[in-house]
Amino acid sequence: MNRRRLIFEPEHEIFRDQARRFFLERIAPNAAAWRAQGYVDREAFQWAGEHGYLLMWAAERYGGAGIDDFRYEQILYEENVRHGEFGFFMTVHSRLVGPYIGKLGTEEQKQRWLPACIRGDTILGVAMTEPDAGSDLASMRTRAERHGDRWVLSGAKTYISNGQIGDVFIVAARTVPEVRHGLGLFVVERGMPGFRRGRRLQKIGMHAQDTSELFFDDVEVPAANVLGDPECGFEYLTRFLSEERLLSATASMASAQTAFDITLEFIRGRRAFGRPIGAFQNSRFKMADMRTQLDAAQTFLDALVLQHNAGELSPTLAAEVKLLASELEGRVMDECLQLHGSAGYMQEYRIARLYTDARISRIYAGTSEIMREIIGRSLGLDERKLT
Ligand SMILES: Cc1cc2nc3c(=O)[nH]c(=O)nc-3n(C[C@H](O)[C@H](O)[C@H](O)COP(=O)(O)OP(=O)(O)OC[C@H]3O[C@@H](n4cnc5c(N)ncnc54)[C@H](O)[C@@H]3O)c2cc1C
Repeated sequence: MNRRRLIFEPEHEIFRDQARRFFLERIAPNAAAWRAQGYVDREAFQWAGEHGYLLMWAAERYGGAGIDDFRYEQILYEENVRHGEFGFFMTVHSRLVGPYIGKLGTEEQKQRWLPACIRGDTILGVAMTEPDAGSDLASMRTRAERHGDRWVLSGAKTYISNGQIGDVFIVAARTVPEVRHGLGLFVVERGMPGFRRGRRLQKIGMHAQDTSELFFDDVEVPAANVLGDPECGFEYLTRFLSEERLLSATASMASAQTAFDITLEFIRGRRAFGRPIGAFQNSRFKMADMRTQLDAAQTFLDALVLQHNAGELSPTLAAEVKLLASELEGRVMDECLQLHGSAGYMQEYRIARLYTDARISRIYAGTSEIMREIIGRSLGLDERKLT
């Protein structure tokens, strides 16, 4: 990264150096093989667990580090995107799914699941999206019916990260048919009868990330696997969304910064009309514009990370930074690929992979349109209030 980041202390920089070595030495050498096979080997999670990089926020009594400072996760994500493999979704495991257990789980549930998640022996996923319900999550059809001390879960989920390699999934399901937001969260474990995996979906990018269908055919889930109040699942999902958006913005900035750096190097070396591509005023201006926008967006994101650490990040600001970072990432990828010429269209050049990997950022963790809805409504521009 070219600019000094004001939010990091010396201990963060030491941590970053160690993390960089981990991603360069353990993850990067496997990345091409994982992309070819379409999923990350389970061992990758165990390697990260050995280094103490999983669920760092968890208390020491479960095997965690007890460090809830978001900056450490930010560093891990940045180093993974830049030096490791974007499709290795350890952040989803650690910070997107793990907190459902850590923050909503009973002591018994935490004892049961957290230690293996921290070691990387158990891999986590979260299953909200359905074939007919994505942005409009409250319209989901997966149902859970109570039968004594068990819940019977039936339905289908799709686009689920870690879908094939995952062991434990937080599954959202309708518990109160007549109430739109009447959802519950259920912990479904590998091997439960009626729980099956469907296809590993073929994506245009992020080929090492396993994104799959999941099916629940009358899966009997014990009451001990319900997280929190079985009618408050929708509220829980929204409670965790701000952090998910901050994470998504972190990844967008890291991949955009990486694209910028490799492009700067490329245009210094590649020549046309007797001079380096970088010597053309067009290249210089494009790079100057991107540099300025990247610095501004990174500064905004870093400021929000500190707000998040202080427990003060609003859902609106989380939506703003997710929108800003993912849209900027898309523009930067396009400009950087253009500056590479046809080389940029070739898989062997990293910019081609960054370009296709980046396309999802404007869709998952809430689409750009949904982010605009959240921000717009916070301004009082809500059709229900204005008409
Ligand atoms: C690689 C990958 C990993 C994923 N991982 C997970 C995961 O682990 N768990 C999980 O549950 N899901 C996951 N998803 C799913 C993802 O979060 C959803 O696909 C996303 O939320 C969008 O939902 P959708 O595809 O149904 O689009 P839709 O909701 O059908 O939207 C289609 C289009 O309509 C627009 N639109 C919708 N509503 C409005 C509105 N009110 N106003 C204006 N425009 C609107 C959208 O912005 C979009 O452009 C993943 C997806 C991918 C591709």
